[in-house]
Amino acid sequence: MAEFKLPKPLLAPSEDSKPFWDGCQRQELLLQKCDDCGFHRFPPSVLCPRCMSMNHQWVKVSGKARIFSWQVTHQPFYPAWDTPYNVAIVELEEGPRIHSNIIGCNNDDIYIDMPVEVVFEKVEDQEWLLPKFKPSAK
Ligand SMILES: [Zn+2]
Repeated sequence: MAEFKLPKPLLAPSEDSKPFWDGCQRQELLLQKCDDCGFHRFPPSVLCPRCMSMNHQWVKVSGKARIFSWQVTHQPFYPAWDTPYNVAIVELEEGPRIHSNIIGCNNDDIYIDMPVEVVFEKVEDQEWLLPKFKPSAK
């Protein structure tokens, strides 16, 4: 008997986050940058959290980051994900922190302040590319 496996949840971009996800599909990491104070922000929002301005541009950022924190999940909190898997908070060179996964190394090799860079990985059985992070080339 074949094992039933739930599909992974589909992305559902909002009006505010659509430019971010569209950028990912082009393998570009985009952030909102405030026109008035220059602050890069994530997650996407209507107002700048620093100066409350509504004026902003979507800008391509370097994708370079350092691991701020991470954990490895061993319990299957949602059956679509195979365990163990890691969840990391990476701090982008431009400042914002993003939740993602670290790929291209063993979970045991992940450490705080590890330099990483963005890569875009296709979601199994879907068309979406998601931003993941891998150890930076030395
Ligand atoms: Zn601002």
